[in-house]
Amino acid sequence: MKVFKFGGASVKNAEAVKNTARIINLYPKDNLLIVVSAMGKMTNALEELNNAVFNNKNEIYSLLKIITDFHYKIVNELFKDKNHKIFSELASLFNLLTKQVNEITTDNFDYSYDQIVSYGELISTKIISNYLHLVGIENNWMDARAFIKTDYTYREGSVDWELITYLTNKILLPIYSSSKERKIIITQGFIAGTNTTTTTTLGREGSDYTASILAFALNAEDVTIWKDVPGVLNADPKYFSVTEKLNSISYREAIELSYYGATIIHPKTIKPLQNKNIPLWVKSFMAPEEAGTIINNDTDSDNLIPSFIFKVDQILISLLPKDFSFIAEENLSKIFATFVKYNIKINLMQNSAISFSVCIDNNREKAQLLIKELQQTYKIKYNENLELVTIRHFDQKTIDRVTVDKIILLEQKSRVTAQLVVKNI
Ligand code: ASP
Ligand code: MG
Repeated sequence: MKVFKFGGASVKNAEAVKNTARIINLYPKDNLLIVVSAMGKMTNALEELNNAVFNNKNEIYSLLKIITDFHYKIVNELFKDKNHKIFSELASLFNLLTKQVNEITTDNFDYSYDQIVSYGELISTKIISNYLHLVGIENNWMDARAFIKTDYTYREGSVDWELITYLTNKILLPIYSSSKERKIIITQGFIAGTNTTTTTTLGREGSDYTASILAFALNAEDVTIWKDVPGVLNADPKYFSVTEKLNSISYREAIELSYYGATIIHPKTIKPLQNKNIPLWVKSFMAPEEAGTIINNDTDSDNLIPSFIFKVDQILISLLPKDFSFIAEENLSKIFATFVKYNIKINLMQNSAISFSVCIDNNREKAQLLIKELQQTYKIKYNENLELVTIRHFDQKTIDRVTVDKIILLEQKSRVTAQLVVKNI
């Protein structure tokens, strides 16, 4: 079986939903397990709804209306027959959501978040499943919460691999083996369930991860993530006017790229696929016949094209012991503990005898709290409004290219990776 993942952009309106049917029709013989995200920006809208439940109850009604209107506009375009069962199915989901919103008695924000935000995927999969039926593509709608099982860490559920493997083999596999005809299952990305069936989620952009978990548990033939770009690009088009597609990269390269901040694939997605040697395709939903990018064990092409990853709004903090003593292991362990305390991720670090420098995302509040605490022990110097540029498979030409009109404040190179903290002149 093949696993497909359709993200929010690929199902953002009626036209896009129709396009998913066209893509599925390109694979008339394959068993498909299709993972779908919430439509368009609906996860953000549902997040706002949960915020309103806790902070601003009088916004609830208007937010609910935005969410229902958005979906009804799509369904009205897709289903000409106003007696189609999608209308009552949607109405009952919206009733449940409204009830959920009005009946939240907990002060557990994260718990409430998962109960509310998960509706984005429940609704999108209902719409798509019904639409596919309408155009003659038979499929089974399945509730992912029945087989993607996590612990009780709301908003970042930790998955129970064994239970998921057991349940998916018990619940999903028989559907595929029930007859000779190809079968399609439609299920939700991002959402999961605990063993007492409360809803959890896997973290923002977690649908890629769902696809990968399912592929792992069911030993899928491959996974395809359908995106609004032709594949994995060597730079974000937001920062680079000319980008190149990487035709083939290894799992290792993909993990490195996402570690340094490339946003093309959810960071947790690669490991389960690598563990079972399941290829991952990244393809364009606008040009589904084109090859896209393949991610697998093959490392041969990794160094063909240099990749650029930009992180903007960085702050570079340097710590100097007040008494000119060395930065040694004990100081470092205390410094790291302070970063852990404020849950701050270090993007780059460097130390010398009497100084230690770190580059972090400039989340102003957190960064200022961190600096305040470190100032008790160290003399602190810092620089804001910086960019961190990471170049995989760099050479001098690529470094020159990203440092035009910039001053380099810090530079670090390994055999394949160069990282530069730069500032506009
Ligand atoms: N809908 C969720 C989100 O936007 C999950 C996903 O799209 O992967 O974060
Ligand atoms: Mg999404």
